[in-house]
Parts: sequence; structure tokens; C-alpha cells
Amino acid sequence: MNPLRSLILAAARNGTIRRLVATAPVSRDVVRRFVAGETTAEAVAVTRQLVDSGLTVTLDYLGEDTTDAKQAEHTVLAYLELLDQLHADGLSDRAEVSVKLSAVGQMFDEDLALANAKRICAAAEAAGTTVTLDMEDHTTTDSTLRILRELRQTWPWVGAVLQSYLHRTLDDVNALSGSGSRVRLCKGAYKEPETVAFQEAVEVDKSYVRCANALLAGDGYPKFATHDPRLVRIIGERAEAHGRKPGSFEHQMLFGIRPDEQLRLAQLGHTVRVYVPYGGEWYGYLMRRMAERPANTAFFLRALATR
Ligand code: FAD
Repeated sequence: MNPLRSLILAAARNGTIRRLVATAPVSRDVVRRFVAGETTAEAVAVTRQLVDSGLTVTLDYLGEDTTDAKQAEHTVLAYLELLDQLHADGLSDRAEVSVKLSAVGQMFDEDLALANAKRICAAAEAAGTTVTLDMEDHTTTDSTLRILRELRQTWPWVGAVLQSYLHRTLDDVNALSGSGSRVRLCKGAYKEPETVAFQEAVEVDKSYVRCANALLAGDGYPKFATHDPRLVRIIGERAEAHGRKPGSFEHQMLFGIRPDEQLRLAQLGHTVRVYVPYGGEWYGYLMRRMAERPANTAFFLRALATR
């Protein structure tokens, strides 16, 4: 892993640095490039704009590192309010939600996380939309897949995320490529040890292509989450080779990253879903985006320096 990425990801977990950055007078514009806002109304307004431009959306209420049931409840209520509002505004056929199980209790009580996830899935069903469970660091993978299996017994449309940097992922892909499954494939955003994850970018990319092929060959609905132009091209070629028409898989990208490419793919007839984070807890999310791309870090530091 490149040293800058390691450093920023370490900073993302460091409490002192977290407090310093989170309280710095960061311009709203800097955060707003990647985060839709802090309130439900702001998140829904951004969703409306994206949908009007031909894109679809998945919304993430930012609330990681939840350490007690009260915080978890706060996150659940935020999702319930969001789902109600998406439904009321006629957006729920174009916008779903992404949930980090750590935000609803996974770190201290897996049963509570499952119960909370069930409430969110029931609300999504009532709103006429779907839920995808985000994937976090490798220590949570088994627990997340266990919760996914439970949820899918009632709501078979619940989606999972698999990360191509993990050695185990092709096996997980094969287990989840059947009919009805909705898998988002990404490279992975956490700092992981070499015992469990590929460290070289080229190995992560090769694994991505192997997993993408397996998903395209299966009967599920794959969701390819990457901004990497080479992978987007390969996905297009492989989808064609597997006889997959636009609409039988989708491209996903993050809010604020390669917006022109998002529109270009949508104009070609592809389903493109934009991952839109919102909420007050933007720090960890923003740090992972900084780690991925030095240009993002420079943009952020410049904005801080010019305050
Ligand atoms: P990278 O390897 O970061 O970049 C490859 C190339 O893409 C770059 O060389 C450049 O050409 C282009 N590129 C990348 N960023 C930019 C930019 N800002 N501007 C212009 N070009 C750029 N990770 C998880 O661990 N768990 C999750 O649940 C999860 N969910 C995700 C959901 C979505 C919709 C997306 C898009 C990502 C998600 N991720 C998740 C993050 C993911 O794992 C990667 O960390 C992140 O997407 C960066 O990898 P990449 O594939 O885009 O390519």
C-alpha cells in the first residue's frame, strides 16, 4: 500500500487527529464536494438533482463507530425518516439506502445490529425500495454476511458488498452470484494486513476482474462500484461477452467523483447509481476518499490553508 494512503488511513482511526480535523473550520464547499449535507432535506434535495439528470442513487447516513444502543437508535431513526421522505417525494423507485452495520450496533451487539437492520429493511419495503449492506474492515466480513443471510430470508433483495482486495472474495462472490442476489463489487477502502488482503494495486485489479467475471456469469444483479476507467471499460467488454444487456447490471460511483463519467455512462443507457453520503459524521468517510487519491487530499488541504 502506498505510504500516503497508509498514513491517511491511520489518521482516520486516530482520535486526536479526528478531533483536530473534525473541529477545523473546514469550508462547507470542501465537505459538500463529497457529502450531500447534514440533514434529510439536504440529502433528498441532492437525490432529486441526481435523479433529474438520469442517475439513480443509494444514500448512506454517516454514523460510524457507534458504541452504544442510543447512537445506533439515532441512526435507525435517521434512515426511517429518510425512507419516508424518499417515498413521499416519489423518489423511492430511483433511490435506495446503504447501511453500515457498525452504525447500527454491530461492534458491540450483533443481535441488535440485526434487529436494527430488520427495521430499516421493513421501512424500505414499505417505501418501495431496497437496502444494501456496506462492507467494512475484514474483521466484520463474517458477521456482515451472517446478517445478510438472515435478512435475505425475509427480504431477498437485500444487497451485499464484496471487496476485491480480500483473498477470500472470489469464494464469497461464488456463494452470492445466484438468482436474486445483488452484489456491489468494489476494491475495498480499509487498511488491511497482507494475511487477508492483496497489497499491490495490480493484484487488487486482477481480483476485481476475476470477481466481475464470476458475477456477470451468474444469475444475480451485479453492481460495479469503481471509478477506475480501465475497469469500467473491462466491465463493459465482459458484460457484452456474457450477453448482459444494460439494465441487467449497474455501474456505481461516489457522489462528487467523476460526475461527467457518471452522466456519460447513463447517456449510453446504463444504470448508474451514485452513492450519496450525508449526516454530521463525515470525517471517516472523507479521510477514506483522501487516502484513495492524493489530488483529493491536496484539494482538502488547500481549502483548509486558505481559510
Ligand atoms: P482507485 O484505485 O481509487 O482509482 C483508480 C483510477 O480511478 C484512478 O487512477 C483514476 O483514474 C480514477 N479515479 C479514482 N478517483 C478519482 C477521482 N476522484 N477523480 C478522477 N478519477 C478518479 N469500499 C468498501 O470498503 N466498502 C464499501 O461498502 C464500499 N462501497 C462503495 C460504494 C460505491 C458506490 C463506490 C464507488 C465505492 C465504494 N467503496 C467501498 C470504496 C471502494 O472500495 C474504493 O475504495 C473506491 O471506490 C476507490 O477505488 P476505485 O475502484 O474507484 O479506484
